[in-house]
Amino acid sequence: MPTNPATVPRTLTGLRWPVEPAQGGWYTAAEHEAVREMLAACDDWRTGWKNTAPVADFEEAFATHTGANYAVTFNSGGTALEMVLRHLDLQPGDEVVSCAINFVGPHLAVIGQGGRLVLTEPDPVTLNLDPADAERVLSERTRAILLTHWNGAVADIRPFLDLAHNHPHPVHGPPVVIVDAARACGGRTPTGAPVGAEGWATVFSFESKKLMTTFGQGGMVTTQDRALAENLRRLRTYGGRTQWGVNQMLSAMQAAVGIVQLERLDEMNTARIARAHERTAHLAEIEQLTLPPTVHDQTHLYYRHNLLVPEAWAGSGRDALMETLAAEHKVGSIVNDPVTYLSHDLIRAHTTGQHCPRAEQLAARLLCPCLHPRMSEHDEAAICGAIRQATATVAETYDAS
Ligand SMILES: *Cc1c(COP(=O)(O)O)cnc(C)c1O
Repeated sequence: MPTNPATVPRTLTGLRWPVEPAQGGWYTAAEHEAVREMLAACDDWRTGWKNTAPVADFEEAFATHTGANYAVTFNSGGTALEMVLRHLDLQPGDEVVSCAINFVGPHLAVIGQGGRLVLTEPDPVTLNLDPADAERVLSERTRAILLTHWNGAVADIRPFLDLAHNHPHPVHGPPVVIVDAARACGGRTPTGAPVGAEGWATVFSFESKKLMTTFGQGGMVTTQDRALAENLRRLRTYGGRTQWGVNQMLSAMQAAVGIVQLERLDEMNTARIARAHERTAHLAEIEQLTLPPTVHDQTHLYYRHNLLVPEAWAGSGRDALMETLAAEHKVGSIVNDPVTYLSHDLIRAHTTGQHCPRAEQLAARLLCPCLHPRMSEHDEAAICGAIRQATATVAETYDAS
């Protein structure tokens, strides 16, 4: 039985490198300048912070960048996802299919909007939602397939569009494909399309850790569906005088900085990809570790650089590696992400009776030592050395038997 990845014994004090970077996209003089200008422009009692032009400009730039017809900002990725699901008006028994290895946010959004969350296994190599396993759980109650581009590994949307087409809901037709691209902003799918162009709706986050950030919070939905875009604009402004809604607006300041971050996104992603490739090359000769694939076409943005330990180390061996890295080398690492039904009480209660043994096994082998494009060469060399030594230390115990 794999240990609960949410309860890995941790040394969290005295780390030299944190368990994960708290900042994803970083700011340059251009962001600082844009912020100064917007601050001066908004500090006026007649107009204040009500200037909506920057938000509209940010949405237009984002739609252009992703090749979507519509882009709608929100105050967070989580609320954006929840409003996309709300548009479906889920009824009791309506099902949403999603991979069990995931951030808890998308699963809580399904539960919050009254859907029944149906969990599936990840693909054993990419750890993205496995189309074969999704097919196993699709039913005439399925309203949506919720596909997360896991940690920057961009999934192929086409198999899910085909599955949806072949399993129409008796009333609503083919289930919609909702893409959670919170960790894949600026990526490309295997068809070469920008993330955000394919699927019914794609949700992005600009939270602090994400690939670009609007002061640590923010979100966006892209879609080709005009009715969805118009309804999302109502939902984020108290229902637009016609229905329920709540204030979920992005601010002018956030939009101003978002416009610059978007212009710099490719440059930041390129730096991140180069760093991830470098680390993979440095760790290549460690036989116990399964490394992320090295791809060059932006189908992987390496939001996290994931390592898998051998099957025989699952659970306690992986925990020992994380603990050795922390205690002996001051290197933080994280399980990103555990199986949601093992790590969140509400999701566990909601999915009683559902089990994803492959997801549990993979999550128990997973760790992500800290990596960021702004780390120095010296930091990077030290962390790679630590991973090599800590793996050898753990191997003495686990490979001897
Ligand atoms: C960050 C994140 C979200 C939620 O975004 P917030 O802006 O933090 O609400 C959703 N899904 C995934 C995969 C994420 O990483």
